[in-house]
Amino acid sequence: MAASLVFRLHDKGPQLVREVLLERGWKEYDERKRKEEDWNLYWRGSPFHSSDYHRLLPWQHLNHHPKTAGITRKDSLVRNLRRMRATFGSVLYDFSPTTFILPNDYTRFLAEYNKRLPNRERSTCWICKPVDLSRGRGIFLFQDMKNLVYDCSVIVQRYISSPLLMSGYKFDLRIYVCVKSFHPLTVYIHQEGLVRFATEKYNLLSLSNVYAHLTNTSINKCGPFYKTQKGQVGTGCKWTMSKFRHFLQGQDINELFLWQRINNIVTLTLLTIAPSVPSCPNCVELFGFDVLIDSRFKPWLLEVNHSPSLSLDCQTDFSVKKGLITDLVDLMNYTSADSLRDRAFQTQRNIRPCFNANLSKPIALVSKLKDHNFKKKNKKSLQIQHEKINQAKFSQHDSVAAYQRHLPPVVTRYSEVNTPAGKFCTGQTLNWILGSYSKANDSVVKTGPALLSHQMKYGPWVTEVTNRENTETDAETELSAENKVSSSVPDTQGRRSTFRLPTDSWRFPDIYRRSQRVHVQGPKAQTGQHIPPIRVGGFIRTFPFNLATLKASQEKLDVPVILQELQKLTGRVASGQWDDSKRTKEEETDVEVCFDSLLWGPEDPLLLSRWFETTSDMQDRKKN
Ligand code: ADP
Repeated sequence: MAASLVFRLHDKGPQLVREVLLERGWKEYDERKRKEEDWNLYWRGSPFHSSDYHRLLPWQHLNHHPKTAGITRKDSLVRNLRRMRATFGSVLYDFSPTTFILPNDYTRFLAEYNKRLPNRERSTCWICKPVDLSRGRGIFLFQDMKNLVYDCSVIVQRYISSPLLMSGYKFDLRIYVCVKSFHPLTVYIHQEGLVRFATEKYNLLSLSNVYAHLTNTSINKCGPFYKTQKGQVGTGCKWTMSKFRHFLQGQDINELFLWQRINNIVTLTLLTIAPSVPSCPNCVELFGFDVLIDSRFKPWLLEVNHSPSLSLDCQTDFSVKKGLITDLVDLMNYTSADSLRDRAFQTQRNIRPCFNANLSKPIALVSKLKDHNFKKKNKKSLQIQHEKINQAKFSQHDSVAAYQRHLPPVVTRYSEVNTPAGKFCTGQTLNWILGSYSKANDSVVKTGPALLSHQMKYGPWVTEVTNRENTETDAETELSAENKVSSSVPDTQGRRSTFRLPTDSWRFPDIYRRSQRVHVQGPKAQTGQHIPPIRVGGFIRTFPFNLATLKASQEKLDVPVILQELQKLTGRVASGQWDDSKRTKEEETDVEVCFDSLLWGPEDPLLLSRWFETTSDMQDRKKN
């Protein structure tokens, strides 16, 4: 029986993460009982120290990528977006209101303020926000320069003074974005999210009323009208994104275009830091993007949150956030990661394949040094061991660096899968959901159309997600070759209890056995590309969204190509036009190699290719 997966929470929280993981059979890390490296997931609300990344072992995941403050600090976000705008123009990078970082930009702000003075007439409003505070703390609105008072670094931003209102109340959207990897850039957006309302009616005559102008829950739940019935908004101050979708359907707008623009905001913002984030395949990050929609249905990015709140203030929070964390854990897929940990703890010898053979000895020593029991030995023997390590001229840092060179490569094999059940290619529903390399393809195929439609709606069952980056070093292959992956999966308790696979299907196809391993090879194999799953639970892959963006995000990020593709797609969604007969060569190739994507946003997200076909059909019907 395999050991349970182990999670480690910094500062005892968040409780929701603990709850979800315990429900799924995980164990909480206890430093008195476990070895230092005996955990699978370490979750922190604050950033990790750089040494945490250096010490990471193959079976461990962290919930933050390194160096993402470039978008999560308000001033850094402004700088980065400015840089992108200067380099690539403002056609795409037009989603952030004009912003100044004070005190540095004071003169520039003054010039802009004066420029707008003649036609002020109450129209130009500014919002001042401390750069490193959250939850609405320290924020105020002003129109007159004399009211701008600050004693720390702040940003002053043009206030979006005509927001879209619901029954007279302002709201913004909290979009949950998971960056599975920065190298290659792999982004998922969750279908559910939150709509956060102000609790007093919007009124530009009372700029100091935070309950009318700020939509932060932490502020509004303390407001006098929080529990009052507020027209269409109801009581409280939150809606689910699903409820918002229903509201949108009653509006006379191109809903898909709105979702696509939000999707663009996410991708374009992440592109600002993607090249500078160090590669760390064992990290995953959940960002909270705050987006405000104005009265013309244009979405604006307000900020990006590093650790979006997981507190449960109401039923809406509960349903959205619980599903979110469940899906996030699925997205991390611990199946192979846990088998590695298991094996490593069973025998030191099994660590060796992770490393260069020449380095294995010092690593074994380092690992021994880390051993809890070993630490208890007297100082002298510790010193001797240290000397041995020094003699081997091999510091722990070196060994970790050496190990990291053996982490699953970022760029790896990709393509269609040959399984005993056959080869999957164009038109297989399976590939739309899981990508073309799922190790569970066999069992999925046997489940038939009913299951497939269920999966289209709710995503694949947890066990059908592929290994963490769908990559595998030879060392990992060797390490897991002796191991029945199927027996090491305590993480099988999904929240969708209505849906059960036949008992047989619980066994993972043992693709890690050398002899039986599914051979992943295809037309693009020499480029080493692989396609990440199209969706996992409520998480929809939004980047890469076609073969061109997949290629452009490997190795060195080709931003101009990505922007071009994004513009092309947005143009099509905006016009709702797609002439299938005019498929470009690249699109033909996408189809050939089963690359498809879902359009994030609508209630039942459709495959891009299907959607285009449907809309052109609809347009044809309209014409006739
Ligand atoms: P915090 O990190 O403190 O939550 P935000 O930038 O998210 O700071 O701003 C808090 C709230 O203020 C937002 O949720 C939104 O309601 C409002 N807000 C912020 N910036 C603007 C803006 N430029 N225009 C209109 N409303 C804004």
